[in-house]
Amino acid sequence: MLFRKTQFIASCSDWKQWPAPLTAPVIGFWGRSNVGKSSLLNAILGSKLAHVSKTPGRTRLINLFENQDPHCILCDLPGYGYASLSHSEGEEIANRLHKYLASPRAPHLLCWLVDARHGLTKTDLAIAPLILELAQTRDLLVISTKNDKLTNNERIKNQGMLEKQLDDIGCFAQVLPFSCSSTNAVERLNNIFSDFLTAYSQQDPIE
Ligand code: GDP
Repeated sequence: MLFRKTQFIASCSDWKQWPAPLTAPVIGFWGRSNVGKSSLLNAILGSKLAHVSKTPGRTRLINLFENQDPHCILCDLPGYGYASLSHSEGEEIANRLHKYLASPRAPHLLCWLVDARHGLTKTDLAIAPLILELAQTRDLLVISTKNDKLTNNERIKNQGMLEKQLDDIGCFAQVLPFSCSSTNAVERLNNIFSDFLTAYSQQDPIE
């Protein structure tokens, strides 16, 4: 397990409240509410930690976890498209996230979670410009979730359709099929993170 020595460090509404040193690489997780973000975090962190982000009051905040070895920050961003939020609440969160993603603390690797069954929805497409802007200077990984809910044929077809949708919006990031119940998928994801962290440690720190 890559993130063996991880602990919850803080919830913040604003990137300026961020306590971690700037030199640690940040891996961010974002996606539509209910896309499977907490389940994915459970799979890579262990269930004892990911529930933190689901605690009432924290679901609309940026939740930060710190791993010691390899040293990095995991940043759980509030899910978007949350039906029970009022329009103004949704806008306020979107504004805060916009500022965060344009800040020096923005993730060096952003994982954009998309449901394998639905591909990019209207809500995903609404957030896409923000993600594409970040991808100009930072790494982006698209993770398609809940693949175990599809048959093999559907999986291949949906993966192709998602790649086409991403192409159409000018997003050329790698797409990783994921399912929480698949140890292979968890291992593949950990390998991507491990390679990213090794590459990061070999370059000059980016701010
Ligand atoms: P979040 O709102 O993005 O944090 O989503 P959750 O992790 O809470 O997941 C939403 C629902 O999808 C829950 O009922 C999960 O059990 C289910 N889910 C999440 N990931 C998977 C997966 O890989 N496979 C299956 N079959 N269900 C999943």
